[in-house]
Amino acid sequence: AGRLADRVCVITGAASGIGRATAERFLSEGARVVAADLDGERLATLEGVEGVVPVIGDVSVAEDARRMIDTAVERYGRLDVLVANAGVIPLLDITEAEPADFDAVMAVDGRGMFLTCKYAIEAMLVSGGGAIVCTSSISGVAGQARQAVYGPAKFVATGLTKHLAVEWAERGIRVNAVAPGTIETERVAAAREEPGGPEYLSEVLGAHPMARFGTPEEVAAAILFLASDEASFVTGAILPVDGGYLAR
Ligand code: NAD
Repeated sequence: AGRLADRVCVITGAASGIGRATAERFLSEGARVVAADLDGERLATLEGVEGVVPVIGDVSVAEDARRMIDTAVERYGRLDVLVANAGVIPLLDITEAEPADFDAVMAVDGRGMFLTCKYAIEAMLVSGGGAIVCTSSISGVAGQARQAVYGPAKFVATGLTKHLAVEWAERGIRVNAVAPGTIETERVAAAREEPGGPEYLSEVLGAHPMARFGTPEEVAAAILFLASDEASFVTGAILPVDGGYLAR
């Protein structure tokens, strides 16, 4: 039973934050979850949880991204859902950012998103369809300060979502994205300790009409909707989960 009963799902960045909350929510809805993450130590805390197959890997490395998808197919015979969620979140303006920062972030948030979507779509074409949910961001829709590297990388997620949705709709593959506002994760806790972090965060908080940050569970609920059959006529959508941020 559940909204994802027996669905085979790969979730990247599943060891922490939004990805972890999504893995937990998906499990409670009956899904089989391949939980992929670079951080083996954190991923180990999901080891032995019923319905979870952990895979350690780097989404920006083609063989690793392929292995995440192949694990689902080898274990369960097909892939129904990809949540392309792994990402890194640097807060840099363009004067602070080095060329290497751009490449490093684009590798994960850009190339990693491309690679996991590519191998997922190839697998879904074999098994007759599926659903992809990309984790974009308000920074992948609108402009913000200190997002000279992260912002463009998150536009990759929204761009892939729209282009892939159009191209594969007729083959039964839906592709959508969530655009979270600021979400209370460890990354945000760490940002409070960075130079200029508290000032930046209070400014960002002021831009959220609901005057609070979101929770990983609130994002997971939106990802669940887009991944489930309840969203059967929804594709190419960028769903804000942002307390009204993008409505301004
Ligand atoms: P997080 O740091 O808690 O989780 C990210 C996870 O991705 C970590 O477990 C990390 O190990 C993993 N990861 C990082 N690089 C990887 C790689 N190369 N290969 C595989 N796994 C990798 O952060 P989060 O806030 O949960 O972020 C998840 C997603 O949500 C990201 O795409 C981020 O851009 C997006 N997002 C976050 C916020 C926010 O405020 N926290 C807002 C909007 C969007």
